[in-house]
Amino acid sequence: MKEIHKNFDVIIIGGGLAGLCNAIHLSKFGKKVLLIERNEYPKHKVCGEYISNEVLPYLQFLDFNPFHFGAVKINRFQLSTTKSNLISAKLPLGGFGISRYTLDFELSKKAIKNGATILEDIVVNVDYSKDSFLIETKEHQNFTSKIAIGAFGKRSLLDVKMNRDFIQKKAPYLGVKIHVKGDFPEDLVALHNFKGGYCGVSKVENNAINLCYITNLSSFKKYKNIDDFQEKVILKNQFLKEIFKNSEAIFEKPLTISQISFETKKPVENHIIMCGDSAGMIHPLCGNGMSMAIQAAQLSSLLILNYFNGEVESRNELEKQYIRQWNKKFSFRLKAGHFIAMLFRKDKIASVLLLILKKIPFLLPIIIKQTHGKPMEI
Ligand SMILES: Cc1cc2nc3c(=O)[nH]c(=O)nc-3n(C[C@H](O)[C@H](O)[C@H](O)COP(=O)(O)OP(=O)(O)OC[C@H]3O[C@@H](n4cnc5c(N)ncnc54)[C@H](O)[C@@H]3O)c2cc1C
Repeated sequence: MKEIHKNFDVIIIGGGLAGLCNAIHLSKFGKKVLLIERNEYPKHKVCGEYISNEVLPYLQFLDFNPFHFGAVKINRFQLSTTKSNLISAKLPLGGFGISRYTLDFELSKKAIKNGATILEDIVVNVDYSKDSFLIETKEHQNFTSKIAIGAFGKRSLLDVKMNRDFIQKKAPYLGVKIHVKGDFPEDLVALHNFKGGYCGVSKVENNAINLCYITNLSSFKKYKNIDDFQEKVILKNQFLKEIFKNSEAIFEKPLTISQISFETKKPVENHIIMCGDSAGMIHPLCGNGMSMAIQAAQLSSLLILNYFNGEVESRNELEKQYIRQWNKKFSFRLKAGHFIAMLFRKDKIASVLLLILKKIPFLLPIIIKQTHGKPMEI
């Protein structure tokens, strides 16, 4: 086994998009980085796998081009209601489709190439004292660092351990994902609503179609299993029926995650810089969580580098600036995202909204813009 140094400048807990982009960015500037990820790469994740083009300038700065790994360009959008009324629009900025299986794996290779250390283990405890972090893993390894980044996603045992406020609240959503083969336009992302949830449809690399839906647990529990739920609820939407019936599963069985919550979180907790979903999760209906995770990584990395070079004078200042900039960048988007998702959960409001959008088509790109930003500045 390769010996791992015990002391690092930065330890990143969690190797999804937020963690990996931080690892690439910080190691690019010579910082000694350890990223601890519980799962082995590559691995499929429940995710719609549509990423806004906002992130392309930053990925380029990180010397990472998703199109080298088969990403497909997406610039059209469709939305249907539970009653199968459909509206289409051009996406104001557009995006691309790539599986998390490929994206996270390729980013992890890039981080290692830059000099970061990636360890497959589970962080079970984080202690902060005397201006330093002590990080303990399940395999009984201890590491220390000056900075700790929490990039452990929407819900982790560490949230429970830290007794974070959102953990006490309800997490009533379930996510399901499957890749299929079939006919679907490469340049389109569709969001089809069904009673109690919505399903995103878009292409990723290798001509696969990603079908990913989120539903509230109370609707789901009324049915025997996923097949029964799909048959009796999801296929009531005519567009979903056509896609599900005319495609062939690539996965042996669908991937699922539960206990999804959209409660507000704090961007810094116990001096840990929270990044990506650990800091706050936008409703997936807005298709922008991955882009937010990547943008938050840029924000944290830039401030952490300034802390190391003395431009940010103290830990207190680092935390204050991160909280201020995080809120400035993401607070409005999160609220707008949750409000839009709430409207689409109400059948009658959603139908009226769709009628209005059909009559005034330029409104849709304006609504999309509320949950998206501009291309990232480098
Ligand atoms: C159903 C659904 C559909 C979505 N669709 C889209 C979409 O189409 N477009 C979009 O932009 N966003 C989408 N999102 C949101 C997007 O998936 C997330 O916002 C994004 O993955 C956040 O990245 P992250 O790095 O913060 O977290 P993650 O990618 O979840 O990574 C967190 C990592 O931390 C690891 N970890 C957790 N605890 C520990 C521990 N104690 N020790 C070590 N490792 C740990 C986990 O294994 C995981 O790999 C969707 C989300 C859901 C639920």
